[in-house]
Amino acid sequence: MKENTSKVIIIGGGIAGAIAAYVCVKSNINTIWFSPKSEVEGAMQMPPNSIRALKKLGCFNLLKNFLTPISMIRLRETNLKQDLANIDVSKNYFTISRKDIFSSLKKSIDNNSKIEINEDKIVSIENKDGQSKCISSSGEVIKSDFIIGADGINGIARRLSCWTRSKNIDNKVIKRAEIKVNNKNRILFQSSINLWMGDGWHLVYYPHSKGKKLNAILVGNNAIHQINSSDNFELGLFENTNWQDVNIQNTIYFPKYINSNIILLGDAAHPMPPHLAQGAAQTFLDGAVLLDCLSKNDNISSSVGNYSKLRLKSIKKVTNMSHFSGEVLKFSGLKKTIRNKLILSGNVFINDFMKNLWGENSSL
Ligand SMILES: Cc1cc2nc3c(=O)[nH]c(=O)nc-3n(C[C@H](O)[C@H](O)[C@H](O)COP(=O)(O)OP(=O)(O)OC[C@H]3O[C@@H](n4cnc5c(N)ncnc54)[C@H](O)[C@@H]3O)c2cc1C
Repeated sequence: MKENTSKVIIIGGGIAGAIAAYVCVKSNINTIWFSPKSEVEGAMQMPPNSIRALKKLGCFNLLKNFLTPISMIRLRETNLKQDLANIDVSKNYFTISRKDIFSSLKKSIDNNSKIEINEDKIVSIENKDGQSKCISSSGEVIKSDFIIGADGINGIARRLSCWTRSKNIDNKVIKRAEIKVNNKNRILFQSSINLWMGDGWHLVYYPHSKGKKLNAILVGNNAIHQINSSDNFELGLFENTNWQDVNIQNTIYFPKYINSNIILLGDAAHPMPPHLAQGAAQTFLDGAVLLDCLSKNDNISSSVGNYSKLRLKSIKKVTNMSHFSGEVLKFSGLKKTIRNKLILSGNVFINDFMKNLWGENSSL
């Protein structure tokens, strides 16, 4: 059996894995990154706190050519000609394709002598007496002082580190589609995030990749039927859309950042519903805080202890805000009517809520 050793092993081939790899290279740490090849699909919103975190990480310039600027968030409903509300986000709000984030980060560290990239999966972890032993899918045994678990909500690192009552897990399927611009659907590609709130369903769509593609997310039972039967012109343009299933988990999980010498980062640390566009934003913040802690202390154990303390302070708030948004978007019947009337009346609640999350003075 082949054996190898490294200071740090990173598990995870998503955005969190790429951020962890970027942080380790910047911190000059010998690292092996296990990043199984997979198709990175879709796009994401980058609200102002996401952009601030990328700047702190020092990787904003790597991504800036791939960003599509957004000027407004439009809250809409099918029975009204006017918007329920418009939120001006013309400063620092962008969208980006996931592939562009992942490949730009990976390209920036490819060929760096501090990191070895391996496309195997990790099939088991043993964590004993301050040393970790990982076994890869090709049978290699790799020893390390630390593991960074960036392997998502169902990953092996999170499973080893967190206890979850499985009967409370609320699995949910939502729909996602990527639509290319053409002469007929061009109206959908304005520089705004469109959030349509129906009766127990909602639809979000926004342009990305310089306005050539549209990312659309549809949530709620019967939602496809609802938009197909609507006589709204814009919703009618989604009629022949090829929707793909995406599993999300709606459970409230406790965030967790370290367990002995396993350090969690990204969804593995803080699973949350996607309704506030914060999963990756908080992953960038994880990276920025970890990088800062590593730069201030040569001892990795102390640095990761500080990382955990600092991140736990704000992540609980963001996780709760994401759940709350998901609940409000789910409203139907009377609750939905009251919600829409409050928004339409110019209730200041939404602006305050967003300012708490994105405002210049927010630490979230
Ligand atoms: C519908 C939807 C919309 C979203 N929109 C936004 C948005 O607009 N803005 C935003 O900021 N966030 C958004 N998010 C959240 C965001 O996508 C995630 O938070 C972000 O991608 C972080 O992913 P991750 O790398 O932590 O996990 P994942 O993407 O789950 O990646 C985990 C990786 O680990 C790999 N892996 C798993 N097990 C192993 C193993 N044993 N060995 C090696 N590798 C392994 C997997 O192959 C995978 O590549 C959205 C999420 C969803 C579902």
